[in-house]
Amino acid sequence: MNPMNPEPKSAAENKAPAAAAGATLKYLPTIGLEIHAELKTTTKMFCGCLNNPDEEHPNYNVCPICMGHPGTLPVINKQAVKHVLKMGTAVGGTLADFTEFDRKNYFYPDIPKGYQISQYKFPLVTGGSLAGVELTRVHLEEDTATSKHDQGDFSQVDFNRAGVPLMELVTEPVIHSAEQAADFAKELQTLLRYLGAGDANMEKGEMRVEANISVALADENPAKGLDVPAKKFGTKVEVKNLNSFRAAERAITYEIARHIDLLERGEKIIQETRGWDENSQKTFSQRVKEDSHDYRYFPDPDLPKLKLSEAPEFSKENLKKELPELPWEKRARLKNDFGLKDDDADMFVKNEMYGKFFDLVVKNVDLNKNKEVTKKAITLAANYIASDVAGFIKNTDIKNIPVSNEAFAKLMLMLAEGKLSSRAGKDILKIMFEKGGDPEAIVNEHGLMQKNDEGELKTIIEKILAEYPNVVADYKNGKESALMFFVGQGMKATKGSANPELLKKITIEAIH
Ligand code: ADP
Ligand code: MG
Ligand code: ZN
Repeated sequence: MNPMNPEPKSAAENKAPAAAAGATLKYLPTIGLEIHAELKTTTKMFCGCLNNPDEEHPNYNVCPICMGHPGTLPVINKQAVKHVLKMGTAVGGTLADFTEFDRKNYFYPDIPKGYQISQYKFPLVTGGSLAGVELTRVHLEEDTATSKHDQGDFSQVDFNRAGVPLMELVTEPVIHSAEQAADFAKELQTLLRYLGAGDANMEKGEMRVEANISVALADENPAKGLDVPAKKFGTKVEVKNLNSFRAAERAITYEIARHIDLLERGEKIIQETRGWDENSQKTFSQRVKEDSHDYRYFPDPDLPKLKLSEAPEFSKENLKKELPELPWEKRARLKNDFGLKDDDADMFVKNEMYGKFFDLVVKNVDLNKNKEVTKKAITLAANYIASDVAGFIKNTDIKNIPVSNEAFAKLMLMLAEGKLSSRAGKDILKIMFEKGGDPEAIVNEHGLMQKNDEGELKTIIEKILAEYPNVVADYKNGKESALMFFVGQGMKATKGSANPELLKKITIEAIH
């Protein structure tokens, strides 16, 4: 075997170029994503029909415009334009000044006009980056109707979705692993939610990921790592029907392995569109792509061209002002200001309600004067929310828990001040999750307050020492474990409410 070309790595190993920088990897996978997201607006993209993704009655939110009747006139939805411009601002892209909508002509039963209104030459947003991935463009178009093929010989079409505003985001071919692709999609989902632009549930089809995958023979290039020159990209395959992050990650992993396998056997990769089969966990050929689909794009003559600088509400300053704290800003804040671990920070960012709860708790804890206790309480809060609270909540919404952020903050402060043992903290939290209430009241009711009264503990310890003179002698003869025996007895005598550190100290003092 040629030492410069070691055994091909499995698809899973053959991932991050960073890990491979300087090494001689034989294959470099490249992925570019095209992601569609339905936007949250009151009405559809070009008509006054309600945009209600939860409407269950088929063909309920329809009108002649979204049904594509001839002679109707579409009107641009400002709210949808704004969502995309905000997205563009968040990712640092260039916002178009001049923009227009184009007709993308093709026939399908779910597109009754015979064309989809989309954007071609003048997308609303060009460039920008997200999660370290450069973006090509973000544009606005309309969703199609949905077809159902589960009625025997018939197919049915539901037009509720026809004309719903749809954002399309295209990345540059710069992703090099399935995991990175999934991370990117997750960050986009989080961003859409933060911007209030969409719910982006993949399972509901509100966000749809298409992955373009190619595998190239990579030269060793220590300076640039494994950056393959554009003309040497492998043949790309597009994979559709990815209905979850897991499906996206698995399909990409599968495709990379399939390409490497074909290349190993000296076979050619066919440029085609493939689907993902959830049952077999495999991709399958759907259609071989003709060179370039001729959609005969042309500007829609029914819609006005837009000059965005003429709309003050779309000015860069205005859009910037309206941005919330962005996911990556929040991640950095949680880590820098409160020393949160990466995983906890990421959980609070992705799970917006957890993050909000944490922020409210911090606000309450911050009212405390003792800075050291405050700091301790915040760290405790992060740990408790990420593990214990998450465990209690399971599938209910954190909005509906009976524990108020004030009560939770109070509990964290009591723990930080050493008034409660961590065992008692967990017991109290459990009670709070069952029936709400104030932690101090619960503590008093159940006698859970950690005993820090030295005088009281001293009396208890002295009684125990008198009971076990042999163990005292053992300790005096150097048997260290005897000390823990007394602490254990002390905990028992106080029903677990004593501060063990204090018991230890008092025992040592009492013996000497
Ligand atoms: P098409 O004309 O087939 O739609 P584009 O050039 O517009 O192709 O790219 C569509 C998507 O495919 C983009 O996300 C882009 O990053 C990705 N892409 C392009 N070339 C490659 C490649 N060689 N490997 C992987 N992805 C690619
Ligand atoms: Mg394309
Ligand atoms: Zn309509």
